[in-house]
Amino acid sequence: MPPRPSAFARRIIARAPLVGLTVALIACGGERAGERAPDATQALPSEFDADTAFARVERQVAFGPRVPGTAGHRAMGDWLVAALRARADTVLVQEWTHTTADGQRLPMRNILARFRPADARRVLYLAHWDTRPTAERDADRSKVHTPIPGANDGGSGVAILLGVADALRARAPSVGVDLLFVDGEDWGSFETNTDVLIGATYFADHLPSPGYSPMLGVLWDMVGDAAPVFLQETWSAQGAPEVLQRVWSVAAERGHGAVFTNRGGYEITDDHLPLQRKGLRVIDVIDLDYPWHHSTEDTPDKVSRRTLGIVGDVAVAVIRAVEAP
Ligand SMILES: [Zn+2]
Repeated sequence: MPPRPSAFARRIIARAPLVGLTVALIACGGERAGERAPDATQALPSEFDADTAFARVERQVAFGPRVPGTAGHRAMGDWLVAALRARADTVLVQEWTHTTADGQRLPMRNILARFRPADARRVLYLAHWDTRPTAERDADRSKVHTPIPGANDGGSGVAILLGVADALRARAPSVGVDLLFVDGEDWGSFETNTDVLIGATYFADHLPSPGYSPMLGVLWDMVGDAAPVFLQETWSAQGAPEVLQRVWSVAAERGHGAVFTNRGGYEITDDHLPLQRKGLRVIDVIDLDYPWHHSTEDTPDKVSRRTLGIVGDVAVAVIRAVEAP
């Protein structure tokens, strides 16, 4: 793997005013006319059901914050395991207790739903299912210690993976597929890299088999914004360029080239990094330009059915493209 900066970049670059972010994005690459324009109408039939995906965002938020150690977290985890057992060939649950830097003990669960678990050729998709205990970016400063609802940050990625599971149950894949729901992504501090990416780090240290090496891996995170723009995240482009290329070219073939742009933009500390460090070829598909990030306003009304449909369509199509001879 190519070297990467020794220190993590802060995940939350968007703490800067949005106007600054916009300037930075424009400065990063030649913009092309219409790149932020609405996507072309979906002409191709999709195996992914956007309405169901949106309903699952609402369902997750209805559990309450999915903060490790809370009742909502426990209920949501049970719901996920049951939903996946009804769809996948096998479901593995990793359970452990994480002790935080300040001595709290958090119950953790990673959930791995596997299709064709014996196949060596595999695709790995992951999303975090926990939500953040603090709303430090909330405009109302009295709410900064309130847990976020996590409709987009947490809910959207899980909804994509569940919709992929539906599609694979409806038409079984001819390649192995692993859908990994990681816990504890958003608990602690991205500024000091303390008690974050907990589940992905645990999974990287406890892979499901010796030599586990999916041919491609994609982390889907914050994929529900109504004005989606997915930049080519720097560590994804450096750590697994062929994966990024494959996903982006499928997106273009599906008519979503305006959403999956050819621009680079930022380095994001996210769940792909612990996996990349173990040699797994994983990229991060994320749109951090979301005004309600880490606030109590991250609610289902900010999540777009249309965006979920685009992302889910690409996610299924990437698997079908890998299946093709
Ligand atoms: Zn977050």
